[in-house]
Amino acid sequence: MKVWKLLSPKVIAEEERPDSIASPTQAKVKIAKVLIAYPEIRAYTGAAGIRYPRVPGMYAIGVVVEAGEGCVKVEKNTRVFLDGVAPCGECAECKKGNKDGCLSPQIAGINKDGFLRDFIVAEEADLSPLPPSVSDDCALYTGLISLCEDIAGTLDAAKGTHVAVIGAGETGNILAQLLIYHQAVPILIDSDEERLAAAAACGVYYTLKADENLLAGVSEITGGRMAEGCVYTSFNGLSPDLPFDLAAPCGKVIYAGMEFAEMSVHLKKALDKKLTVTGVTGDCPQSAAAINLLVNKAVDLAPFLAEETDASDIPALFAAKAALLEKENRTRPSILNMI
Ligand SMILES: [Zn+2]
Repeated sequence: MKVWKLLSPKVIAEEERPDSIASPTQAKVKIAKVLIAYPEIRAYTGAAGIRYPRVPGMYAIGVVVEAGEGCVKVEKNTRVFLDGVAPCGECAECKKGNKDGCLSPQIAGINKDGFLRDFIVAEEADLSPLPPSVSDDCALYTGLISLCEDIAGTLDAAKGTHVAVIGAGETGNILAQLLIYHQAVPILIDSDEERLAAAAACGVYYTLKADENLLAGVSEITGGRMAEGCVYTSFNGLSPDLPFDLAAPCGKVIYAGMEFAEMSVHLKKALDKKLTVTGVTGDCPQSAAAINLLVNKAVDLAPFLAEETDASDIPALFAAKAALLEKENRTRPSILNMI
């Protein structure tokens, strides 16, 4: 098989690797599409602080071309989502048998090789079969939906609870839609009106621009109580202190994303308000549940399906996206077609 790997920041090289099935519970998958989003570009530029060489690509879908004789849920031609996150198997929690509580989950493209390749041999346990009603492009978002479900579960917001969601990128937008699905009341916040408008078109009712009127806006929507839950999504460019201003006393604040930037906050504000502060990193993916949400059309992914590109010049694609990120401090996801 062919892989594209980062040798160092901004240097991508092709490499041939052997690709035969080594155990009966493995399957060989032809990679069809890979999501190129923030983590991939951060790995490319060196901002993610990963160890090189590394094959990028956190989320991908493909088709099984060969299944080992011990495989029970996939066979030749099964369309699958590839789970990019797996427990390490070596930490104290894993050794106790609590793999969902793994302390150093292995994340594709970050601390293990990812999916930017033509074929992969994977354990069947890391493959999630896709029903026909879920399109390839939507299926690429299974991992992010799983992360957002994890956040919603940690919030455990009762019906009608106001939740401030800071950052209207992919995670914030999808989370706001899922909170509505779970009957909470999200207030989506960003400095970028285009992103807020995209979320509004997906049915997110309350969107607020992060400006000098923000606190007054949240106060008005919540009848002066402020938000009982508050989620700060990684890399949104807004102050990580914002949740402490927007949260109601005794509220819950969650910092969420597949990775975190270095952050400093004024803890006194959180202590004075007796806030509960925690982090969610989506490290025990519930792909089957996420795929079920796609089947039920619980989220509208239209804003994230616009950019599709072929794999003819992968180094040029990464270079162009990195340049855009440097210029605008934002990047939009691209769907890379590998076939
Ligand atoms: Zn572990």
